[in-house]
Amino acid sequence: MSVRHVAILGSTGSIGVNTLDVIRAHPDRFKVTALTAGKQVERLAEQCAEFNPAIAVVSDADSATRLSKLLLDKKINTQVLHGPDALVVAITESNCDTVMAAIVGAAGLVPTLAAAKAGKRVLLANKEALVMSGNLFMQAMKDGGGELLPIDSEHNAIFQCLPGQFSKNPNPSLGVEELWLTASGGPFRNKPIEELAAITPEQACAHPNWVMGRKISVDSATMMNKGLEVIEAFWLFGLPLEKIKVLIHPQSVVHSMVRYRDGSVLAQLGQPDMRTPIAYGLAWPERIEAGVDPLSLTQLATLSFSEPDLLRFPCLSLAFYAARAGGNAPTVLNAANEIAVAAFLDHGLPYLQIPVVVEKTLNAISVAGADSIELILDTDMRARLLAKEFICKL
Ligand code: NAD
Ligand code: MG
Repeated sequence: MSVRHVAILGSTGSIGVNTLDVIRAHPDRFKVTALTAGKQVERLAEQCAEFNPAIAVVSDADSATRLSKLLLDKKINTQVLHGPDALVVAITESNCDTVMAAIVGAAGLVPTLAAAKAGKRVLLANKEALVMSGNLFMQAMKDGGGELLPIDSEHNAIFQCLPGQFSKNPNPSLGVEELWLTASGGPFRNKPIEELAAITPEQACAHPNWVMGRKISVDSATMMNKGLEVIEAFWLFGLPLEKIKVLIHPQSVVHSMVRYRDGSVLAQLGQPDMRTPIAYGLAWPERIEAGVDPLSLTQLATLSFSEPDLLRFPCLSLAFYAARAGGNAPTVLNAANEIAVAAFLDHGLPYLQIPVVVEKTLNAISVAGADSIELILDTDMRARLLAKEFICKL
């Protein structure tokens, strides 16, 4: 068994912490080469003390000074860097072969692309990076020659249910007819629609089944998360959009399914615990202990499935619209959503205005190509500015 050298982008977040939890249980299999965070300096210092990476990155100079001091006190000789460019250095200079891409949002795009180009095994949690850059990212993976393993639980489930050769060559003879992405429906699946106007950030972040970062928790409540996941599945698995379906499944036990031509439907089931897909990605094609409780089907009363209600979840329709429009529309969708969700979390935008801001921004930017990183970042910036303007005017 060879040792994997792992860099974690976003190590202090929900996915980052779960990744280190799996790594901690397998010191013979995994070594940590780099850890990065935004501003959570104390948590990062503790992680450095435990895992002793060569490089640690934070987002700004002030955080870097604080981290260096904490590491000096702990007598840890990790090199401390800061800023967006240092995230790329953490990938290219830390001797890693595996990168967990777990920064939230567009901030993860450039370092995740760098990992793709450098031929690393990319464990993709940061779906926004792929949604923003679709074709460019998939091409970078191809050119780099590394392995792309989805960590998002639905895509990880689908990956597990597809024939091994499918992702590299989605050949019709393999008989894959449809991908069914499951969605819990979030905390407001059954709430009377008239009550949604007064939703607070705390209510939106209280997901019934999963414990996650605040941004993805709001995305789960609006179902923008599932919309982003449809686009993610489109790029990862190379099937036409019409073959990607969303099913509400409140129990979050069936993580997604693949329907085949011969009538078979393959599903992956498990506890709603991200350590399962994380362990799968880290050890693939082997399977390792993930610290997850075994699933007991007899303890589950029912598994139910239904169609999503698009009136309740307009963000899902907006994502399908952007996916069909193609080009830079998914980049616009993602940027406007990031701005709207941040404003909502900051008590600066009512919950029901999130889709309004996204729709206005989508309508304001005409669809164009998104073939280069410059075009993508330019679209991202313009969409953010417009979304902020719309929020100010509301
Ligand atoms: P989180 O908010 O808990 O963690 C985000 C991490 O990114 C933190 O380490 C933070 O410090 C870092 N970060 C944030 N902004 C940054 C910036 N500007 N520069 C550098 N670092 C920055 O988020 P999370 O829930 O762990 O989600 C991470 C990603 O994984 C998201 O893209 C999310 O959609 C995806 N994902 C998460 C889950 C989950 O269960 N949490 C499941 C599937 C997919
Ligand atoms: Mg998911």
